[in-house]
Amino acid sequence: MDTNSYYTHTMAELEFGARLAWRNTLDCIGRTHWKRLTVIDVSFKKKPEEKLVLINPEIIEREGKQLEEEGCLSLPEIREKVQRAAKVKVRAQDVTGKWFEVEGEELLARALQHEIDHLDGILFIDRLSRLKRDLVIRKIKKLQKNGEW
Ligand SMILES: [Zn+2]
Repeated sequence: MDTNSYYTHTMAELEFGARLAWRNTLDCIGRTHWKRLTVIDVSFKKKPEEKLVLINPEIIEREGKQLEEEGCLSLPEIREKVQRAAKVKVRAQDVTGKWFEVEGEELLARALQHEIDHLDGILFIDRLSRLKRDLVIRKIKKLQKNGEW
């Protein structure tokens, strides 16, 4: 995936309060350095120290299951229950290139999986059953037809 298209996409990712964090990170490291970068803030800007900057992240462990509703500003109006691992361990680099690991449960686990999926070009609707996804696509087409999307 080319960096600029992901940049544009991530700027729309207000659901995890990533906008400011992303811009600061770009100021620090320059826009073209990293092919896979995401910023996650599940405190929604309330605790900036918990902001996670993940470069080249990979999920190395998954545990359990959770089924919770997700939305994405790339797909306005659409919210569906998505099955995810309940707990994940992620390996990533920080802005200095140093590798580290982070574990997340519940919302953080979901945010990690949602955002890392984006880096792989996967949207949450791609995680739905065929039937559910077809219904969502039909809903989007209807909204588009009515000029509401
Ligand atoms: Zn998203």
